[in-house]
Amino acid sequence: TVLQTLVSEARSRGLDSLDEKSGKDLAAAFGLPVPRSRRAAGPDEAAQTCVGLRPPYVVKALSSQSVHKSEMGAVRVNLATPQAVREAAAGILAAWPLAAEGLLGFLVEEMAPGDHEIVIGGYRDPQFGPMVMAGLGGIFVETFSDVAFRVCPIDRQEALRMLSELRAYPVLTGARGGAAADIEAIVGAILAVGGADGMLLQSDGAIQELDINPLIVGANSACAVDVRIVLA
Ligand code: ADP
Ligand code: MG
Repeated sequence: TVLQTLVSEARSRGLDSLDEKSGKDLAAAFGLPVPRSRRAAGPDEAAQTCVGLRPPYVVKALSSQSVHKSEMGAVRVNLATPQAVREAAAGILAAWPLAAEGLLGFLVEEMAPGDHEIVIGGYRDPQFGPMVMAGLGGIFVETFSDVAFRVCPIDRQEALRMLSELRAYPVLTGARGGAAADIEAIVGAILAVGGADGMLLQSDGAIQELDINPLIVGANSACAVDVRIVLA
């Protein structure tokens, strides 16, 4: 399976987590929508790999370690042309500390549309076993800890209940004149992580922890643009 292939590949390279591209490939295998993306070794290859992707593009560093890419200037969004992608990748390389240590290359991907950012997580609790978490991204998670947790597996109704018990839920339904989010797509993403057929339970213990931050959600779409998977 995709899971076995990616896990053994990471282990053979001495990694205890999947890089972002492999994490997205695995997530996609479990039905999570992810942006179309390609690996590139350097700035020139990053520009070449735009062929077949739809602009605007996003370029980010592919790291072997868990890093906040945006804090390191390693995420560049809204790039209109392959030339802009080449320059962005060169900029990431120049800003990367430690002479490119831990830099596996670049990920070039399509930009996901949508006004809402959702965070979905999963982990193995020593007491309760696989757990799934969901909340709204940004200040809602970081400042208000406005998140919901459940023991896996959950069903569609329970996933919907997780969302509706968030204090920030009205933001998703278009309160204050904002755009409404595709709730059904968010529910589907939560189930892809913590449902009976989801990643956590179907990984046979291989996944210790996973983090989708963010799932970008529009009126009729959702897309996991950052996926981090830590192996057991
Ligand atoms: P990190 O969390 O390591 O800083 P991310 O991959 O989450 O890096 O990217 C940082 C931010 O850039 C995201 O929260 C999101 O707002 C935006 N972003 C990243 N990739 C995309 C994409 N493919 N489409 C749209 N926005 C993106
Ligand atoms: Mg992120």
